[in-house]
Amino acid sequence: MKVYKFGGASVKDAAGVRNLESIVRQADVQDGLMVVVSAMGKTTNALERVVEFCDAGKEDAALNQWIDIIDFHVAIMKELGLQPGTDIRLQGEIPFDPALPYDENYDQIVSMGEIMSTQIIAVYLLKQGLSVEWWNMPKLLRTDDTWREAKVDSETSAAVIKAGWERPNRPHIVIAQGFIGGTADGKRTTLGREGSDYSAALLGNYLDAESVTIWKDVPGILNADPRIEPNTVLIPSLRYMDAVELANSGAQVMHPKTIRPLENKHIPLYVRPFGDPTAAGSVISDDGVGPIGIPVYIWRKNQILITMRAKDFAFVLEESLSEIFDIIHRNRLKVSLIQSSAVTISVCVDNTRFVPDALEALKARFNVSYNDHLSLLTIRGTTPEILERAKAGRTIMLSQTTRRTARLVVKENDN
Ligand code: ASP
Ligand code: MG
Repeated sequence: MKVYKFGGASVKDAAGVRNLESIVRQADVQDGLMVVVSAMGKTTNALERVVEFCDAGKEDAALNQWIDIIDFHVAIMKELGLQPGTDIRLQGEIPFDPALPYDENYDQIVSMGEIMSTQIIAVYLLKQGLSVEWWNMPKLLRTDDTWREAKVDSETSAAVIKAGWERPNRPHIVIAQGFIGGTADGKRTTLGREGSDYSAALLGNYLDAESVTIWKDVPGILNADPRIEPNTVLIPSLRYMDAVELANSGAQVMHPKTIRPLENKHIPLYVRPFGDPTAAGSVISDDGVGPIGIPVYIWRKNQILITMRAKDFAFVLEESLSEIFDIIHRNRLKVSLIQSSAVTISVCVDNTRFVPDALEALKARFNVSYNDHLSLLTIRGTTPEILERAKAGRTIMLSQTTRRTARLVVKENDN
């Protein structure tokens, strides 16, 4: 079996869904195709706004936004020749409960994007005569209740998913939601933004897939973001380790958790262009060769650089480190870079909603200063000339270089 994953940009309109159909029809696979799909277009962002409006008590704004989302899906359905209300009944009411915490409501509402996209695609493919089944991942992919970043219980999930897949007379194609799962007591959860790749990798792992393919709106894995760099180069082949590093340094190629489940079972991961299904794209595997000779530029935006200095003079690095990282971990910060001197420790972290609380906790123990509106630029395969060029005209807050890799924390408006 194989796993195909289609992101939001691939299914942003009816033409995208038809293109998915043609890719799925051409899939060269004997014993079944698992198709993992994200929410259509920018639906997840729109649903996040619904949550914000609901939480702020702005009922009209929430409802208007919700209706826009439903209308967007209805328009796609009509263009695909589906009858809203007959072929598919979309959820009418916003699944919001003012008694629940924000993050729990977030998961109930935001997960609807994937539910809607997969319902539409499954029914459409069925009507085109394909052998299709729709899977409800909140009932199959078991997670804990860490809302918005749920942890997957792979033991339970793998057993249920394998049993479902290996059923006699299962339809050839299964359509499943990426990004979402569910708790033991039936609540929907989400795995973190852009988490569909991770879902696809987990399904590939549980079902011992021959391969997992991510269909994207780029030619494959590029050495830089084409929205920033005009001249990008395709990296045809990478090792798992390179891919983990790329993903963790902020490349928008795939979710960082995607690689491990595939590496564990030696399953190759293809990244291929949705618009040109005959192009080879990139492959990540055990015997990938890596981007030799091509410098790779990875931007990680929206960073904050926090520097801690001891309140007394007895600065014991080891003790302070464990204390700092305990606070960081408890506050769910994502560290992108660490630097220490004799009297200070600096960490560069994603500037998320968790930062203010973490700063408070750190201030109780250390003298803390910080700079925000920063970006982290990682250059792999750098040379002194490349580094000079990257630094030119930028305000460098911090830099770390090894022989082949340079990491620069720069002011954001200099990008
Ligand atoms: N729809 C979700 C998001 O936009 C998950 C994904 O696309 O991977 O974050
Ligand atoms: Mg997406």
